[in-house]
Amino acid sequence: MPTYQDTQLFINGVWGPAASGRTLPVVNPATHAQIGTVAYAEKADLDRALEAAEAGFKTWRKVSAFDRCKIMRKAADIFRERADKIAPLLTLEQGKPVGEARMEILAGADVIDWFAEEGRRAYGRVIPARSEGVYQLVVKEPVGPVAAFTPWNFPINQAVRKLSAALSTGCSIIIKAPEETPASPSELVRAFADAGVPAGVINLVYGSPAEISSYLIPHPVIRKMSFTGSTAVGKLLAGMAGQHMKRATMELGGHAPVIIFDDADIDIAAKTMTFMKYRNAGQVCVSPTRFLVQEGVYKQFVEKFVEGTKAVKVGDGFDKDTKMATLANPRRLSAMVANVDDAKKHGGKVQTGGYPIGEKGNFFEPTVITELSKDAAAMNNEPFGPLAIINPFKTFDDAVTEANRLPYGLAAYAWTRSAKTANAIAAQVETGMMTINHLGFALPEVPFGGVKDSGYGSEGGSEAIEPYLVSKFVTQAGL
Ligand code: NAD
Repeated sequence: MPTYQDTQLFINGVWGPAASGRTLPVVNPATHAQIGTVAYAEKADLDRALEAAEAGFKTWRKVSAFDRCKIMRKAADIFRERADKIAPLLTLEQGKPVGEARMEILAGADVIDWFAEEGRRAYGRVIPARSEGVYQLVVKEPVGPVAAFTPWNFPINQAVRKLSAALSTGCSIIIKAPEETPASPSELVRAFADAGVPAGVINLVYGSPAEISSYLIPHPVIRKMSFTGSTAVGKLLAGMAGQHMKRATMELGGHAPVIIFDDADIDIAAKTMTFMKYRNAGQVCVSPTRFLVQEGVYKQFVEKFVEGTKAVKVGDGFDKDTKMATLANPRRLSAMVANVDDAKKHGGKVQTGGYPIGEKGNFFEPTVITELSKDAAAMNNEPFGPLAIINPFKTFDDAVTEANRLPYGLAAYAWTRSAKTANAIAAQVETGMMTINHLGFALPEVPFGGVKDSGYGSEGGSEAIEPYLVSKFVTQAGL
């Protein structure tokens, strides 16, 4: 078992405890044993972080995009080299299988590399002028110090996107990483610091999420905020950002529909979607949730998906055969129990799973429920756990109506062999991301974000850089 160090704050280039000395316990979700502590920042610490971020911004914006890129790429290499050391920490605090943890770290390093390069291409524009001798320039400048809030489901991947976008554009950042899973994001910050990111450019805090966000977002030093988490909290923070005229990126909840047409390759669809459903025990904002299967292949798909679900090996994240491990916290376990109880009351048929496993940890069975009515809780609220709901549909229009019924619009999946159906479904589902006949989300170079209650802005692709930049118009005439 790896050694789990207590996590400290990182302010102005120095690791240290909170001024008050206060800490929170960190618990292993697979055993409920305390494994360490995390420093708890209060106002005095936040004031130091704000001062550091303000000074850090002045330093970092003067570093050329070329040199920022070199430092960031070095951070990516360091982080990649440390993957085998950091992965067990992520498994200890979050629960996910250690192979998934390692993949998250390697994917995080790729995100840093991509943003590092893209920052070099944050070009401005020259607009042809109406008069001779006049130049009209659009100059891109970094927006300023950023406040970022990231959750516990992907402690590294949610943090690395915000850190990398901010750094690549010349912004400084104060990041409030998840208190429940603090060590792995702190290793990410360490990689940047060890690569030579100057003091004050990245500041890492933990504490009370509500106290920290309500202090940082309105603060005049902060010029932009970015949040990943639930829609309920996102709306609260977006309101605060709006009130103080701060730019905001919101990556919120989803309830992804998976539309499987009669002409789909059912074997590949069932196999691919089983993998995707139980990845990170379903605690994924783009997790496939509402399976809508056309009547002609409904029975066949249910059989294959249930068969795949029964084969998912649940166990300790450190066991190399484990495909799905514990849920990350007891809140998710009770949410799953409540969802299944409610589904039974609403006529849902539990095809497999439905119960917690064992006395220790937050383990829950991979669960499939079919023929669930629309008013069941799980048909409306993001289950954020290992629960798949499968219902039949008749026509293309029926599938679109159900897919668009909810206020969410983050991710959607479709399976069909018809190019015509693929084009039509991509056009008609209200979603920020659609993947058809394969899994194609979340690469650094492609947009990642939602519409409707799933938020706004993007955490990937060139779209992710723009919100960290302001456009300054400069027009100049030769005298
Ligand atoms: P929650 O709604 O209390 O918290 C969600 C996240 O927001 C956590 O990281 C939390 O620390 C943070 N948060 C909460 N209040 C905040 C505030 N006032 N200011 C700043 N940050 C704040 O619930 P939870 O139990 O942690 O997660 C449950 C739900 O959150 C899930 O069901 C899921 O819908 C959503 N969630 C989404 C993502 C995602 O990737 N989009 C990640 C984690 C959780």
